[in-house]
Amino acid sequence: MDIKIIEVGPRDGLQNEKKVIATADKYKFIKMLSEAGLTTIEVASFVRTDKIPQMKDARELCQQLFTDSSLKNLSLPCLVPNLKGLEKASEAGVKEISVFTATSESFNQKNINSSIDESLEKIGKVIDVAKASSIKVRGYISTVFGCPYDGETSVAVLLKIMDRLFNQGVYEIALGDTIGIGNPAQTKSILKAVKNSFDLGKVAMHFHDTRGMALANALTSLEMGINIFDSSAGGLGGCPYAKGATGNVATEDLVYMFEAMGLNTGVDLDKLVAASKFMEQQIGRELSSKVYKVLSRGEK
Ligand code: MG
Repeated sequence: MDIKIIEVGPRDGLQNEKKVIATADKYKFIKMLSEAGLTTIEVASFVRTDKIPQMKDARELCQQLFTDSSLKNLSLPCLVPNLKGLEKASEAGVKEISVFTATSESFNQKNINSSIDESLEKIGKVIDVAKASSIKVRGYISTVFGCPYDGETSVAVLLKIMDRLFNQGVYEIALGDTIGIGNPAQTKSILKAVKNSFDLGKVAMHFHDTRGMALANALTSLEMGINIFDSSAGGLGGCPYAKGATGNVATEDLVYMFEAMGLNTGVDLDKLVAASKFMEQQIGRELSSKVYKVLSRGEK
């Protein structure tokens, strides 16, 4: 495989969709995504359900997924904000979690009520407990390309956080353009700095297409040596910082671009479109992905 796609639609996507989806439909969606060839699918988050009702069924969904033998070779990570979340994830049989922080102090304060240092302290404890239970941990860093409150963020701070997370034991870090504000020149300069200190084989890019820059940034990342990308089927999920705007880059858009360039993603576009179409019917609004729109109309 030339490119590894991490499908985040069922978690990151649905978490930003208003309509709460039935557990059976989430389950079917994840099955369809796996049939399309996606081998890592972020399926849920163990967060406060009074804040995020979409994730109220995380435990039930995970229990169903983890007892399905047809899914046993997949990675099905769940997002975990703290020790309490880890405990719940662990009880549901989760084998892999994602933890998160941001390069912006204001963003962390508003999002998780912690400074960057405090968040790293908390994450360190989560990772220690996870490792003791043989649960793999992936790290997310938000606001790498800019923050909705602070504007520009620092690459030096990013490198410090990455160093800390790798030392704490995460196996991979996804760098997030949370508000979809990055551009190719910025992508290049950030990745140049990252490459000087870390193995790019352990770094993923998590782009948002809010301003239509996601593919340009993904291509630049590829040229810089990145081959792991997070994306969401159909472009599922909006952007909480810009009403009505696009959120995660669509899996269809990434897969189309890479495959058209002769790279192998392992993903069957037609089957992926079928999965997105199924979820589009459930959420009751049109998905944003351009490639999805073309293919779902039956055009080639
Ligand atoms: Mg996202």
